[in-house]
Parts: sequence; C-alpha cells; structure tokens
Amino acid sequence: MKVLVINCGSSSLKYQVLNMEGEILMAKGLVERIGMDGSVITHEKEGEDKWVNEVPMETHKEAIKQVLDAIVDPDHGVLKDMSELGAVGHRVVHAGEKFASSVMITPEVMAALEECTDLAPLHNPPNILGIEACQELMPDTPMVGVFDTAFHQTMPPESFIYAIPYEYYTKHGIRRYGFHGTSHKYVAQRAAELLNNNLDEMKIITCHLGNGASVSAIKYGKCIDTSMGFTPLEGLVMGTRSGDIDPAIVTYIRQKENLEQGQANEILNKKSGVLGISGVSSDFRDIEAEAEKGNERAQLALKVFAHKVRFYIGAYIAEMNGVDAIVFTAGVGENDYGMRDIICNNLGNLGIKLDVVKNRVRGQEMIISRDDSPVSIILIPTNEELMIARDTVQIVKGLPV
Ligand code: AMP
Repeated sequence: MKVLVINCGSSSLKYQVLNMEGEILMAKGLVERIGMDGSVITHEKEGEDKWVNEVPMETHKEAIKQVLDAIVDPDHGVLKDMSELGAVGHRVVHAGEKFASSVMITPEVMAALEECTDLAPLHNPPNILGIEACQELMPDTPMVGVFDTAFHQTMPPESFIYAIPYEYYTKHGIRRYGFHGTSHKYVAQRAAELLNNNLDEMKIITCHLGNGASVSAIKYGKCIDTSMGFTPLEGLVMGTRSGDIDPAIVTYIRQKENLEQGQANEILNKKSGVLGISGVSSDFRDIEAEAEKGNERAQLALKVFAHKVRFYIGAYIAEMNGVDAIVFTAGVGENDYGMRDIICNNLGNLGIKLDVVKNRVRGQEMIISRDDSPVSIILIPTNEELMIARDTVQIVKGLPV
C-alpha cells in the first residue's frame, strides 16, 4: 500500500509518500508560507534533486492540491494517479483522553478533535484543516489520524494527575498528556528490534532531545510516565522552552516586570530554555561553539540541560525499578555526542556505561554503550512519518496498532 503522510502546521505543511511494501520513502516535501506572500512548495523525489515551485497558496486546501499535483507530476512525481494511494495518515498533536491509539477518521472523530482544540489551540486547528482539505480533494481515500498524545494514554493516574484541586481535571481536563508519542513509540520498538528482545519484557527510557525535548519511561511496551505535561512546556529544558519551573515564578515575574496577559507564556515558551540561559541561541551547535570560546552562560546552559535529562533518567529508573535500554533520538540526541557524553557521564553505578569511542557518531542507528554495560545505550534516528504510515496501514487493514 502507498501512503501519504501529512503533517500540517498553521502556515507550513510537511509530507511524505511511502511505499509500505518494503517501507520505502518515495518522495517528501514541504510547503511554506501558506496564506502569505511567497508561498512555495519544495518537492523531493527520492534520489533526485529538489523541485522548488513558487505558487500562490491562499488556503490549506490549495496547499494540499499542490502536494497532490507534485506527487503525480509526470517529471517529478512518484504516482501515475491518485488512485494508487491507499490511504492518508495525518499527524494530529492533541487527542486529549479520547484516543489511546490511531483511528480511522470519521465525522465523530473530527468532532472529538474539534473538542480538543482548547487543549492545543496552535496545533489542532491546522491539523484539522489539513484533514478537511484532504477529505475534499480525495473523498474516497481512507484517512487515519495518528496522535502525539495517544502513546502516553497508558500512564497510570499517579503519573498524570497534578496535585491541584481534582475538579480542574474533571472540569477542564487539566492533567499530564505528554507529547512526541509517535517518536517515543517508534524508537522504543526499534530498540527492542536492535537488541533482539521483546518490547513487552523491556524497561526503556527514551530521550527525544530536539528543539522540543521529552523523556519517557516505557515499561513492558507501555508508556508509564513522560516529562511533557498538560502542554509541551513541562519537563526538560528545551531550545526556547523553560521546562519545569516553580509555578510561583510566573506570578512573580508578571508583577516585577509588569507583564501583560500572555507575555509570561510567551517568555516561557519562546525566550527561555538554553536560549534564555545562554543568551546566545536555541541551537546547540551555536551554544557549544560559544561554550568552547569560554562563554560561561553558554557553558551553564549546556550543564543545566544535561542535568535535567539525568534527573529524569534517574527518576524513571526508580519508577520502573531498573532499566534495560536508554535511547537517544531527535536533533540533539542523534547528533550531539558531546551532550550524550555529559548526560551519561558517571552513571556506572546505575549500570549505564557509555563507550566514548562508539559514541562519536551522528545520525545513525548504533549501540553506543560499552560491551560490559548492563544497560544498553542506543542511538536511533527517529522516524515519525514511518510510524504514522505503519499505523495508517494497520488501521486501514483493520489490524491492531
Ligand atoms: P529537532 O527539533 O529534532 O529537529 O532538533 C533540532 C535541534 O537539534 C537544533 O536546534 C540543534 O540544536 C540540534 N542539532 C542538530 N544537529 C546538531 C549537531 N550536529 N550538534 C548539536 N546539535 C545539533
């Protein structure tokens, strides 16, 4: 089955076409500046140069139309016509408590996603627009929703309930949801495969360290805890997000800095994290370059980031009463061997022994722990699109995911 994977943002849209017989990537692309001047589609047929086409795209429907045209383009396309496409898999950020796994999109599912819009006001509306546009342009093609929150729905209440008045949970749905679920699920499955072990018998800690970052505790194949919470702001220090802070800081800063409604949120989401500490950049490459030159705030930002990852690793080892494998993925996790080194340093008493030579690798699947390390440390490039396509095929065939 050939599957189109769509990840629709407010003004941009990423897509991939995969042939799921052999799980082969056929084409991928990006639409930028939807609804703005200078909208552009960059399409890349596997093994060929990028094809850039500047064309006005006022709406998400027009953007999807350009994607479909590119896919069947006689020169740059990969399908003869759209009927070759077996299904479309849509990434949706928030499904609240409604879905614990991927589902076929029906009018009831769309209504449920609309209800979750309050929980993800920036992400769900464009996700919904993308689904509606595809439904209009491909009314006979099955559509599947794959949710970032779904994998974390197995968390027990003691992991997801906040210690605030309980009625905020029942009335407003305030609880830990967790994000990056598709990535955590993919790398956990892959870790079990690489180690020739059964996922259902393993305790795994997955560290998705990108611009957004989260850690998950996966016990016997199920997520039992994750560091992101009600929103993707909680947990680790991130590129521009603060992660965990004392909630009292918010009211205090608002008062001291005379901040308007919403400004504190903006500061915690866009001006904090390693950017906020270092004052240099949200990109670890820039911060590391500055740190090497002796910039103390850049050095501190890296230390605070690593400290928080170690903090969660320790907590999750306690929660699971042990760990068999620690996985690193996403931009920082896959590429930044210096950061992996700091995170895993001096954890030998927990059975975590990094092989500093094997660790000097970027972006490739590899076991990077020492041969005598009781805990396997693995580098696994994430592949959320493949996971979405896999789930899509399973759902269309009526099989479990
Ligand atoms: P992601 O959100 O997964 O795309 O990750 C993006 C982040 O990965 C960037 O902001 C960088 O901080 C980081 N990154 C990418 N490549 C490298 C690298 N070679 N060394 C250090 N950090 C990197």
